[in-house]
Order: sequence, then C-alpha cells, then structure tokens
Amino acid sequence: MVTGGAGFIGSAVCRHLVQVSKQQVLNLDKLTYAAVPGSLCGVEDHPLYRFEQADVCDQEKTASLLEDFQPDAVMHLAAESHVDRSIDGPAAFMQTNIMGTYTVLECARSYWENLPAGRRAAFRFLHVSTDEVYGSLGRTGAFKETSAYNPRSPYSASKAAGDHLVMAWHHTYGLPVIVTNSSNNYGPYQHPEKLIPRMIISALLGKNLPVYGNGKNVRDWIHVDDHAEALVRLLETGTPGETYNIGAGNERTNLEVVETICQMLDELRPLFGGAGSICQSRLELIRFVKDRPGHDFRYALDTSKIASELHWRARKKWNEGLRDTVCWYLEHEPWWRGN
Ligand code: NAD
Repeated sequence: MVTGGAGFIGSAVCRHLVQVSKQQVLNLDKLTYAAVPGSLCGVEDHPLYRFEQADVCDQEKTASLLEDFQPDAVMHLAAESHVDRSIDGPAAFMQTNIMGTYTVLECARSYWENLPAGRRAAFRFLHVSTDEVYGSLGRTGAFKETSAYNPRSPYSASKAAGDHLVMAWHHTYGLPVIVTNSSNNYGPYQHPEKLIPRMIISALLGKNLPVYGNGKNVRDWIHVDDHAEALVRLLETGTPGETYNIGAGNERTNLEVVETICQMLDELRPLFGGAGSICQSRLELIRFVKDRPGHDFRYALDTSKIASELHWRARKKWNEGLRDTVCWYLEHEPWWRGN
C-alpha cells in the first residue's frame, strides 16, 4: 500500500512497483491540489494497480483498506510538501504530516499485530521523509543519519515530528519501520509550484525568474526515478529500525540551477533575437527577490550508509537528468497549462 501515490514521488514509486517490480499496489491518496494528473497513466489500467481516494487522517477508512488489501508493506508518502505554503498556512501540514502519520501508524500497527507470524516478520512500514529535518549546514560538511534533528520551517518541523513518531512506534511496539531522508527531488510530473518546473515554465513564457536572496543557497538534487528505485530497494533489503539518507551528491546553488535551465532552454528553444524579442538570453530574466523567512542555507547528505549496506547509488547524472526534465516540460505543455 502506497499513501500519497498520486503525488510527484508517490506516482514514480507506483510506476516502479507495478512496471519494474511487478508488485500489486493499492494507492491511497486524498487527491489534494498536489496530486498530479496523468502521472499514473502508465499503470492506471494495470491489473496490479488499484486506487482509493482517502485521507490518511481517516482512521476507519485507512484501517478497512488495510484489512481489505492485506499488504505486505506500507510506503507512507502522503504529505503536504511545499515549504512556502507551510509558511503561509501551517495547519494542513500539522494535520496531514503529523496526525496523518500517527493515524497510518496506528492502523498499520493493529493490522500488523494480527498478521500470522511469517507475514508479521516480513512486514515493513517505510516512511518517506526529507533532509530538511536536519536543518541548515554551513559551507562544508554533510548530514549523516546520526545528525541531530534541527528543523526550521513548519514543513520540516512537521516531517521531523512524523519521523519521531515512526521511530517511537518501532521502539515501543516493535513495528518494523524504515525511515528515509532524501534530498530535493526533480524530474517529470513535478508540480509547477516547485523550483525547477516553475523556472522552466516561467523562462519559456518569458516571465521574470525570481531567485530568493542572493541565489547562493545550496540544495542537493536527486532524480525522482532514482529516489523511487532506492525506496523500493530499501523496502526489500533495508534493516528495520534504521534510517537511511538518499541522495545523489548533486549540490548546486539555486542560482546555478536557474542559470543551467536558462542555458538549456536557450539551446533547445532558441530566442531569435531581433528588434521584437524581449531578451538575447533567458539569463536576463533572473531577478533576485526578498529571501524566504528562515531560508536554510545549505543541505547536503552523506549517503555512504545506503551505498555500503545496499550497494545502491543514484544512476542519473545531474546534467543529463535536468536536460531530460527540461525536455519533458517542453513536450508536455498542455499538461502544465492544465489542458
Ligand atoms: P506531493 O506534494 O507531490 O504529493 C503529495 C501527495 O499526497 C498528493 O498526491 C496528495 O494528494 C497526497 N496527500 C496529501 N495529503 C493527504 C492526505 N491527508 N491523505 C492522503 N493523501 C494526501 O509530494 P512529493 O513531492 O511527491 O513528496 C512525497 C513525500 O516525499 C512527502 O512525504 C515529502 O515530505 C517527501 N519528500 C519530498 C521531497 C521532494 O523534493 N519533493 C524530498 C524529500 C522528501
């Protein structure tokens, strides 16, 4: 059972589970504004796939879906995920990311406790979280799984609370959980409100490209398909009670990301200069705007644990992954225009 499987990462997980791992999947998703239309078109009609619209805060419905579907694992991705929205309206984040996680955990616990011994031992609860729970880094260093939590936005604080609940359910009740903390994801089907799609779309439309502060904040990027693969691998071979960082070692300043997108677009969709054109290069559209409150300076993940224990490494190179993503948004204009 996958919660939040209609979202950006959840849909990549469902596609991977059905198309690559050939697993039976129940996708439980509330279909909030963040659910991505079309992201499941490759699996929607697949006999291994089933969808149920439900809220993870709805204990009765979640419990009855577990009973009915009899999963061997729960992958919990449902969340409110946009940091800027969490600053403007934190309530939904507390509800879904904390109370929703608590509800799914309680439902999973009572389901798991009643499983026969063999299935009980094999059951896994995989909780998908973020590197933002660790807080902000200076210019050097990287977060390890043992780094102290220091969340600084309503979003990351709500995710940190969820992570603590999941670990508490392991230590208190023995629920076989795995917690993952991943760096920023990018790739196809990402909501146009997130940095990379927003910049691609605005640059294409010739709109200004707002960059927070001086653009020097650093994020560590991973392609969503690499993340989905790592999650499935952890489900199969990760150790219960453990936390794993998932990243690809692609640290870039926000300004570098925006500049690279502009350069790729200039090459893939050239501007034909001349008197009528607004600019020679989309780089001219970049505008520095007032910084986000509490904007974390830098995130970077030490991923040596997943590399050494599971021999897992991200496959997509940054330039190749970003170029594919830019091409995807170029080819899917009706999708991001909502047609
Ligand atoms: P998303 O916002 O694209 O999708 C979230 C999905 O959850 C949507 O389909 C939405 O309908 C669903 N949902 C929201 N509230 C729900 C509720 N109450 N009940 C049931 N479904 C609900 O998010 P995403 O970017 O795919 O992130 C998925 C998970 O990965 C989240 O837990 C997020 O914190 C985590 N994460 C994301 C990133 C990233 O870069 N996007 C990085 C690290 C971790």
